Amino acid sequence: MEDDCIFCKIIKGEIPSTKVYEDDNVVAFKDLQPIAPIHDLVIPKKHVQDITGVDDPEMLANLLHGVKEVAKAEGMDEKGFRLITNVGEDAGQAVMHLHIHVVGGAKLPTR
Ligand code: 5GP
Ligand code: ZN
Repeated sequence: MEDDCIFCKIIKGEIPSTKVYEDDNVVAFKDLQPIAPIHDLVIPKKHVQDITGVDDPEMLANLLHGVKEVAKAEGMDEKGFRLITNVGEDAGQAVMHLHIHVVGGAKLPTR
């Protein structure tokens, strides 16, 4: 846990969020500024800045398991959805706690 990390605060319940999935390792909640009808974020409960800081491959497996559960919970598993994870400055990462965007609920642009 990092004291000044907003996603750590969401995990601790200090900042409210609309949770869509939670298990021992990950939490998923609705993005505050959705770019599509469904836009959720899946994050590890352990604070890691981005995917390059992951030293245990199991964390990645847990995140992807969370993605699958979110897709199911949101009813996106039949029609499709998209995953995005921004890493660092060039990608415009704004929150420095690893997160996977899960986006869907509409036909998404291909470019
Ligand atoms: P990034 O650019 O770092 O990949 O995206 C961060 C995402 O977090 C953005 O899509 C933004 O809307 C979302 N976000 C930032 N602060 C909050 C918050 O306090 N609550 C929720 N639910 N989403 C947030
Ligand atoms: Zn954090």
